[in-house]
Amino acid sequence: MTFEQINPPQRLLMGPGPINADPRVLRAMSAALVGQYDPAMTGYMNQTMELYREVFRTRNRQTFLVDGTSRAGIEAALVSLVEPGDTVLVPIFGRFGHLLKEIAERCGARVAVRETEWGQVFTPAAIERAIIETRPKLLALVQGDTSTTMNQPLEEIGALCARHGVLFYTDATASLGGNAFEMDAWGVDAATAGLQKCLAGPSGSAPISLSPRAVEVINGRRHVEAGIADGTAGVGTRIASNYFDLAMVMDYWGEQRLNHHTEATSMLYGARECARLLVAEGLDNAVARHRLHGDAMLAGLLGMGLETFGDTAHKMNNVVAVRIPEGIDGDAARTALLMDYGIEIGTSFGPLRGKVWRIGTMGYNARKDAVMLTLAALEQMLRTAGARVVAGGGIGAAREVYADAAAVPAGAAS
Ligand SMILES: *Cc1c(COP(=O)(O)O)cnc(C)c1O
Repeated sequence: MTFEQINPPQRLLMGPGPINADPRVLRAMSAALVGQYDPAMTGYMNQTMELYREVFRTRNRQTFLVDGTSRAGIEAALVSLVEPGDTVLVPIFGRFGHLLKEIAERCGARVAVRETEWGQVFTPAAIERAIIETRPKLLALVQGDTSTTMNQPLEEIGALCARHGVLFYTDATASLGGNAFEMDAWGVDAATAGLQKCLAGPSGSAPISLSPRAVEVINGRRHVEAGIADGTAGVGTRIASNYFDLAMVMDYWGEQRLNHHTEATSMLYGARECARLLVAEGLDNAVARHRLHGDAMLAGLLGMGLETFGDTAHKMNNVVAVRIPEGIDGDAARTALLMDYGIEIGTSFGPLRGKVWRIGTMGYNARKDAVMLTLAALEQMLRTAGARVVAGGGIGAAREVYADAAAVPAGAAS
């Protein structure tokens, strides 16, 4: 049997992730392979750690990559921090909160849940109340949940966790790079991310950062039989996963370079380039760019006469949920946008299924031309499908946002 060389169609990926990778990231990923302990490779590993410290805004020594998609980072953090019988508090405001709950349960935790209506976020007071009621070892909280487009404010959460002696983990996969994130200033103990949202890369690598407090908890679970015979074995229960044993992964990224897995070399090249581009642009500039193009997309959708979903005061910069107009078949319309215009937008889950589309403006696609093209195509597609939209209203409103922000560069990082 013979197959053609792979030749995927050109798409503009304007959903909630994955997005089109920056061509510079894809070029970095095609660079030559070197051995695992080649000084060039260990040099790239150290540079990657340094770059991600800037992306997470942290001085945490333990800032590195977990190989796998974003949920590999989530699993590694939770399985390494949470022991069977520990209480984990998960405030849920969307689909990814349910994922944190499920993973914490698989770690053997007693999971306490608080839920808020989709489209809303939690107040610090509500989280503190839940901490007092449940006395958890760990608070696991999503920052940006693409399922609802909400961005949970985290500024005050670290301080209240510290006050109550609670470890604070956050899943920043969808938000990092496009919304403010301050690991150290906000007192976050563990944070994980992925490349395929605001970091402008493909999925397959999960940047992680661990505070000294989190590292201490993890090191307390080292076991002699796991290959650590230097007297540092701890008293905690053994981490239930080998691949996601962050004590072992830290030794691999550390000076001893103790063999663990074979680092996914090409993914590391890509992850390094994602961070290099963000740091070169400046994190504040990257957040401002996501805000600008997110605002333009939001204004364009409203200008077209469509309605958005959720509390826009807490909307993430990089994704918006828009109500599917009356009488329009959401899936058929998305297919038309893909087949006639090559543009992908997102469907929805749970209570929002069939009610909203989710449109992203993130990473390499947080660009004016991508926003304008999407709005123009969406308007044409909706008119063809028989929906009532304000002719030219979308791109007109977006253009106003750009005119107002004319001083801000509209392109991606250069
Ligand atoms: C997109 C997203 C993920 C994705 O996880 P993958 O394993 O990369 O598919 C995880 N968490 C959040 C909050 C996300 O938005």
